[in-house]
Amino acid sequence: MIDLSPDPSVVELQDRVRDFVRDVAIPAEAALDGGHRQADDDLRRRLQTQAQEAGLLSPTAPTAYGGLGLDHVSQAVVLREAGYGLLGPLALNCAAPDEGNILLLDRVADAAQRERYLAPLARGEVRSCFAMTEPSPGAGSDPSMLRTVARRDGDEWVIDGRKWFITGADGAAFAICMAVTPAHDGTPEGATMFLVDADNPGLRLERHVGSLDIGFVGGHGELVFDGCRVGADAVLGEVGRGFAYAQVRLAPARLTHCMRWLGLAERAHDLLLDRVAERTAFGRPLAELGMAQQMIADNEIDIAAADGLITRAAWLLDRGERASAESSIAKTFVAEAVNRIIDRAIQLHGALGVSDDLPLALFSREVRGFRIYDGASEVHRMSIANRAVRRRAARTQ
Ligand SMILES: Cc1cc2nc3c(=O)[nH]c(=O)nc-3n(C[C@H](O)[C@H](O)[C@H](O)COP(=O)(O)OP(=O)(O)OC[C@H]3O[C@@H](n4cnc5c(N)ncnc54)[C@H](O)[C@@H]3O)c2cc1C
Repeated sequence: MIDLSPDPSVVELQDRVRDFVRDVAIPAEAALDGGHRQADDDLRRRLQTQAQEAGLLSPTAPTAYGGLGLDHVSQAVVLREAGYGLLGPLALNCAAPDEGNILLLDRVADAAQRERYLAPLARGEVRSCFAMTEPSPGAGSDPSMLRTVARRDGDEWVIDGRKWFITGADGAAFAICMAVTPAHDGTPEGATMFLVDADNPGLRLERHVGSLDIGFVGGHGELVFDGCRVGADAVLGEVGRGFAYAQVRLAPARLTHCMRWLGLAERAHDLLLDRVAERTAFGRPLAELGMAQQMIADNEIDIAAADGLITRAAWLLDRGERASAESSIAKTFVAEAVNRIIDRAIQLHGALGVSDDLPLALFSREVRGFRIYDGASEVHRMSIANRAVRRRAARTQ
């Protein structure tokens, strides 16, 4: 039997995160004005200072850089707890996109890049963004449609292209930009990641893309790389290995999203449970009405299944496996489950559910995008189906 119960030190940390979310992160949601005001850097700095004082900052970052260095299974416990507050992950410096960028830099960056980019990011001193997606006809679901190009010019690289929906771009200290690098000096054409400082004169934030959600600091930006010159030291890892590094970031980062959003869905479910016990209709509490009970039970089932899928994928990652298939299944299920859970909570609150008097409408707007980013559900289903067909074919040959 596999014992998946968390280490006592993780349970103790979970308790402290729960208290912090209750006492600090949830009250701070008032600053979002029911979803009418964007989370900003002042709010982030204030919350992160409090998390630092509580010894809770950067649970996923390496201990060498002041983080708590949690493994993936422990992250599943702690990030889920943090996610119970919409601003909990931001406060703890384990929100997207910085959390995924910390992991990527830790795995791929050289010593100088670690000091320059990873160290301040892990300490919460700066923010970052990850610039992959492009407006049509560029790369979205299909990364092979990448159009941003980086050409060699002497010792430098010159990047040209346009990226959009880049979370946190406004106010980020640097971007990790994915670009095509044409064949050069015996290196074949491929995709390469570049570290581009925000004050590079060849990089500009063209606009904010308005969207349903308001919880990501810096919102989502459209970035233009226009003759953007960077030195050879801006290459993250090796030239031409960008897609391989994207895979390094992908499975763990999509899983931490699942953990955080599951926490938020549980908050919605708790609100639902309070509501059905207190509100009566047709002479009985909602909790005793059959169709309401079905919604309560379906939420319980979704939460339990999401937890199981996340834990299984996290456990495989901790064993050093890529967990591509497992994290893909987990991501697809959890992204849809958290939307269902929050929607049922809204439904059983009636008009109150869609009002600004409760945070449920805000939560539903925040989680909707998760069915699109980190791989749209349809793209994951394509991969899951392809894997299944290949597995069966291999067994029957
Ligand atoms: C809130 C949010 C934050 C984001 N943050 C970032 C970020 O920080 N950095 C970044 O680089 N990108 C970011 N993105 C962009 C995200 O990665 C892309 O939206 C995603 O990869 C899909 O690409 P696309 O929007 O171009 O959709 P398209 O590629 O145009 O796809 C549109 C739709 O087509 C359908 N589809 C696609 N492929 C298939 C298929 N094989 N079978 C059936 N249907 C299919 C899906 O329903 C898909 O949603 C973010 C997006 C959102 C919503």
